[in-house]
Parts: sequence; structure tokens; C-alpha cells
Amino acid sequence: MEKTSLKTNSNSLLEEKILDWNLIQKSFQKAFGNEIYSSWLRHISLIKEYNDHVILGVKTRFFRDWITSRYADKILSELKNHKLSLNRIEFKIEPDNAGTKGVAANYSTGNVSDIKDSVLNYNRLNPNLNFENFVIGKSNNLSFLSAKKICGQLSRYNPLFIYGGVGLGKTHLLNAIGLELSRNNKVMFISAERFMYQFIKSIKRNEMVSFKDFFRKANVFIIDDIQFIRGKEGLQEEFFHTFNSLFDQSSQIVISSDRPPNKLDRVQDRIKSRLSGGLVVDIGTPDNELKLQILKKKILDYQNSFKENPDLKEEVINYIANYTNANIRELIGIFNRVVAFGKMSKKPLDVNDCKIILKDIYNSNKAVSIDKIQTVTSNFFSISLSDMLSPRRSRPLARPRQIAMFLAKRLTSRSLPEIGRKFSNRDHTTVIHAVKTVERLKEKNDELKRNIEELKSLILND
Ligand code: ADP
Ligand code: MG
Repeated sequence: MEKTSLKTNSNSLLEEKILDWNLIQKSFQKAFGNEIYSSWLRHISLIKEYNDHVILGVKTRFFRDWITSRYADKILSELKNHKLSLNRIEFKIEPDNAGTKGVAANYSTGNVSDIKDSVLNYNRLNPNLNFENFVIGKSNNLSFLSAKKICGQLSRYNPLFIYGGVGLGKTHLLNAIGLELSRNNKVMFISAERFMYQFIKSIKRNEMVSFKDFFRKANVFIIDDIQFIRGKEGLQEEFFHTFNSLFDQSSQIVISSDRPPNKLDRVQDRIKSRLSGGLVVDIGTPDNELKLQILKKKILDYQNSFKENPDLKEEVINYIANYTNANIRELIGIFNRVVAFGKMSKKPLDVNDCKIILKDIYNSNKAVSIDKIQTVTSNFFSISLSDMLSPRRSRPLARPRQIAMFLAKRLTSRSLPEIGRKFSNRDHTTVIHAVKTVERLKEKNDELKRNIEELKSLILND
């Protein structure tokens, strides 16, 4: 069971194909029978195909609901016969089946329904991380303009390299570029970590030819967090060749990093020089004005989605803006938290309430280290730390070990390889496997789920 699902996921990058809709219609006819086919399925059109999902068009809402509730699973499994990497279907209502334009733009309008069967959703563009939702200020204006610019003039500035600290909007901008360009281009959006994961899989399975083909087919190649390749020679070699072929065929390349190209230590010079050969821009820490603008935007979003006001006093908004200085992700997290508490408390919060709420997250966020997770977990299961970290594979040791890896991934910002290293130098693929295993078991096993909740609160609260 576990084996097959892993296999489906890991193969997915290499299975990219163009779906032949006529052929698929024929297989629907066979699989569902003539009656269902001609009443329902014949009218479905293929609007857009991505690596891991497709958008199918239907004529009315009623059609969509009928098909979704009765046939969606089977449609997905039929489609998987044609393209293994698919794990999701979306239906879009298109009254006159009017072509494919504007799909990406309409992606989040609500008349799309969604069936998922996979935890791995890479190469998936998040429809909310678009240019419209990106608030511009002094610190990110240049990056924003550069991102917009390359969308208007493909491969004029190649590569576009955006760098800056964590939580400042790099992934958001990369995603926005992907969304904008995916209307008319073949976009590949991947993190450097995923790129490596696929790379290693392909070597192991002797599938390097399809790996190379797959990435080189993109005419827009977006790679997030390139700093991940530091110190990884084999990966750098492959990345260099991928980069060159894409560049030679004038594909637009967009890269993000936590530091500028020349500061990427343990990266080959020839790569650094390629990375800085186009347009290099940085995204800085937000000033107060930008933080306030972002909070205003979040309040508007809240009003739009919940049709009510989050009721934040001016002083509270200012307090939140001042609370964190360097990180927009954190700013938004704090905002959400304060709003959630405000809703529960039934009276508008003041600054003092905020202090209490925020003290809480701060205490918990800062303290979590992998060491602590390991100690708490091994105590919890009454095994010794050294046994938990040992190579032994018996279930009473292996399960706690996997749970500890899972918690390390969830509760800290450490990367998979860093976590692997902390667990007696295990490979990052072992960590991925552990995370996935625990995630899966947790859904079926209530006791495990409770244990994990308990562990979390032990780790976060002491
Ligand atoms: P990074 O990749 O640099 O670590 P992200 O792009 O993941 O950061 O941004 C973190 C969070 O902050 C995301 O939710 C993102 O949407 C939000 N964010 C960052 N910059 C902005 C901005 N200028 N306007 C609105 N939201 C932003
Ligand atoms: Mg990011």
C-alpha cells in the first residue's frame, strides 16, 4: 500500500505528457458504459493540463455537481492511466466551452471544485500568491517591478535572481510570475530541494533521460531557494546543465535565494557566474509603512471572505506592526492569531491582551530545537535517546524515531537534510519517508494522533 503510493508520487515528474482528449473520451466510454458516457461525460472538455492536475470544463453548475459527486474518483483514476502524475481534477463551469484563455486568472473564482489524492503538490501554483495580492513598499518595489518586467519581456533579463531573508515574499513573487506566465507558457515551478529529490530518484531508477527531458521542456523555469544546492556537487553539476540548456533555448529562468550569488559559498564558480549574469535584485526587510499596508490588506481580505470586520483597534494594528521587524510571514501569523483571539473574546482587544497572546507564541516558537524534540519524544515513549537515534529498526524504536522526525519537520524551520543529520546522519529521503508515514498513519490511528498532539504540547509548552 505504502509502496505503491510512494511510487506514484515519485514518478510523477517524469510522466509529463500531453493528454489526448479523444483517446480519453474513448476510455471513458469503455469504463463507464454508453449511457453514462453520452449523458454526462461526453460533454466534458479539457481546459488545461498541468503536471499534477487538470482543469476540466463543464457547461453548468448542475453538471459539475452531478459529475463530481458520482464520477470524479473514477474519472481521476481513468486519467491516471493516461498520465500517472495526475492527482487532482478541477472542474470549471464554462457555459459555451469558450477556449482556454484566462484559466489561470479565473482559477480562484470559486466555480472550481477540487479532488485531491496526493500529499505532494509540487509544481502547483498557489492562486492566492499573485501580483494583485502583493503589497508594494520601499523594500520590495524593485523586486516586484523586475518580476513584472520579465513577464512582459520573456528572456530579456535572464536569469532573474531574487534574494532576501526568510518570510519576505520571495516565494510569493516567484509564484506570481508562474501564475502570470502559465497562461501562455509551459511553466515549471520547483524548489531546489524538490529538484534534488527528483534528481536522486531518477538516478536510482535509471531515469535520467526523462529527468533531463522533463525539466528542459519548460520555457519558463522557476526554482525556489537555490541556496539549497550549496555543498552538493552532483546536484550542482545537474543544475548547471539544466540551466545551460534552458538558457540556450531562451527559456526564462527565475531563481530565488536567501543570499546574493556571490555569497553562495560551496557553489561552483561557473554556477555563481551564471546566476549573476542576468538581473539580480534583493528584497529587503519591510519598514513600518509596508507592514501597516499589509495589515490593511489582510483586514480587507478578511472582510471579503467572512463578510464581517475583524474589529481591530488602531492601537492594536500599530502594536502588531511594531512587534516584528524582519519577517512578513510572521507578521501575518501574528495578525491571524490576534484576530482569532479577538473573535473568541467577544470584546475588542487592547494592547495588553495582545501582549499576553503574543508572549505565548513567542515562548513556544523560539524554544523548539530538534534536541528538545528528540528528548521529549524518547522520554514520552520510554526509550533511551541513543536507542531512538540508533540504526536499529525494530518498531518500538523506529516509530518514535519517525514521529520525532515528523515533529522536527513540523515544529522547526530546519530543512530535511538538516533534520536527517540530527538523526545520526540519516539521509533526507529517510526523513521524507518518516514524515509521510506518520502523516498517513495519523489519519487512521487515533491513538497515534493523540500521542502526537500530546507531544506537541509537551514540546511547545515547557
Ligand atoms: P519567502 O519565500 O521570502 O520566505 P514568502 O514568499 O513565503 O517568503 O512570504 C511569506 C508570507 O508573507 C506569504 O504568506 C506571503 O504571501 C506573504 N507576503 C510576503 N510579502 C508580501 C507582500 N509584499 N504583500 C503581501 N503578502 C506578502
Ligand atoms: Mg520561500
